[in-house]
Amino acid sequence: MTLTRKGKHWYGSGDDDIRAVIQGFSERNGYPATDYRAAVCVCGSTLFRLFDDEEAGVARRDCVACGTAHLMGDSAEYADEADPEAHECLCGSEALAIHCGVALYADSRDVRWLYIGCRCPQCQLVGVYAEWKCEGGPVEAFMARV
Ligand SMILES: [Zn+2]
Ligand SMILES: [Zn+2]
Repeated sequence: MTLTRKGKHWYGSGDDDIRAVIQGFSERNGYPATDYRAAVCVCGSTLFRLFDDEEAGVARRDCVACGTAHLMGDSAEYADEADPEAHECLCGSEALAIHCGVALYADSRDVRWLYIGCRCPQCQLVGVYAEWKCEGGPVEAFMARV
């Protein structure tokens, strides 16, 4: 785990570095993330193509190994209204490791804000790719679906 800053971008030696980048971002956003989870496909792979629609509050990850598409967190509730767009790294790679961080309501275990961070295994760029206010309900159930 080593984060290096180049210009305005962060580069990390491992996927755990995503968490540190989400943490810094979320603190500046005013809703610090306190719970984190790595996205793992049912096949065990941790590399995905990421699609999201921040306005609708929908994120989908498509596994690059087996092709399984998964709506993240509570996205399935809003997927009908969404028009998710694909993300790619600055280097052009679309295969990304994804970690989610969430901020909770005070004195509660309910999700208040969702942050989706990614790391590119090609160039090691780490960033927060999407974030939105998310009435996601109890954090344990929410995180089980990231
Ligand atoms: Zn898979
Ligand atoms: Zn890259």
